[in-house]
Amino acid sequence: MSVSKEKQFKVAVLAGDGIGPEVMVEALRVLAAVAVKFSIPYQLREERVGGSAIDVDGVALPDQTLQTCKESDAILFGSVGGPKWESLPPNQQPERAALLALRKTFALYANLRPAVCLPELTHASPVRESIVQGGFDVIFVRELTGGLYFGEPKYMKHESGEWFAVDTMIYWESEIERIAHVAFQTAMKRNRHVTSIDKANVLQNGILWRQTVDRVAHEYPEVKLRHLYVDNAAMQLIRNPKGFDVILAENLFGDILSDELAMIAGSLGMLPSASLGISKGNGRYFGMYEPSGGTAPDIAGLGIANPIAQVLSAAMMLRYSAGREDAASAIEAAVQRVIRSGLRTKDIHTEGTQLVGTTEMGKAISGAL
Ligand code: NAD
Repeated sequence: MSVSKEKQFKVAVLAGDGIGPEVMVEALRVLAAVAVKFSIPYQLREERVGGSAIDVDGVALPDQTLQTCKESDAILFGSVGGPKWESLPPNQQPERAALLALRKTFALYANLRPAVCLPELTHASPVRESIVQGGFDVIFVRELTGGLYFGEPKYMKHESGEWFAVDTMIYWESEIERIAHVAFQTAMKRNRHVTSIDKANVLQNGILWRQTVDRVAHEYPEVKLRHLYVDNAAMQLIRNPKGFDVILAENLFGDILSDELAMIAGSLGMLPSASLGISKGNGRYFGMYEPSGGTAPDIAGLGIANPIAQVLSAAMMLRYSAGREDAASAIEAAVQRVIRSGLRTKDIHTEGTQLVGTTEMGKAISGAL
């Protein structure tokens, strides 16, 4: 059941550092507007995280912040980190101590990264105009808690006069199944096409991945499935990004290819992401939603950051955690209308368009709703 009048949708708001708080204000402005329009009762609880929490509480993820997240339906996250905290020991640094800890605590196994290049913004893509002409809309579904990054054994050892290192790539069928379901369910709401990435010609993991995805595919007969080897996928993404709809990949391949795709899409300030955990049924999940970019210390405090990635993260939150496709689509349509009207923050500005700051962009999007 989606969030309705009877039940409040509880959101933990963790703005973080750098441009985080600036863009979060705009996401909350848009959320307020869409909540009125679609009668969505919601409750926000803002908490400290990252460097700003280290400064006040001594740790990047204070107990109170974690407790609030546990009591919420979703986490709307800004970004954390910056030069001020870079000299701290690695396990105390904002990204490791906050972001990774949250992913682990809530077992956020599905990372969704839409890569949308709007027709008006193809100039921001480093790929030739003829390839991205008309824009594209692809979404990456990456497995986030398994594979080579977490498999055991994992160690480095000195033997016979030299070092060697071991990492283990391991996937259980159940891990592949649940992420495959996320990909197919996502495809059902889009163009019904899944491209699954593996290296089945070399890796046992790839063979199991392919077999399992094929089996899950039987439950979604309306969705067309194709398999690509990861090396071929890296080439096809640059050759023809428009040829993809939903891309499904394990952790390592997904990490690399989703960054490649983000680059092809153009501006970091436009790209949201979602990390989903426990399924609550009916396509709803506990999730954490954040921009794909970081704290952008080079522009923090100047009022020029693009708030769209944060706004679209809030839209994903409504889609995946509140079950409100209507409100999510309305925000996405409002963003497109504002871009079409010619408003641009500095990162996407070109001659002939109107340069605006963070606040003006946020106000324009909520106005367009
Ligand atoms: P970054 O993404 O912060 O910035 C890279 C470039 O993109 C910068 O030029 C920046 O100005 C620009 N940019 C990013 N978001 C933008 C936006 N919304 N509007 C306009 N321009 C934008 O990456 P970085 O410089 O490598 O990292 C800066 C800090 O952020 C580091 O401390 C890093 O650890 C942290 N970081 C945090 C996260 C996270 O919290 N999820 C992710 C990546 C980096």
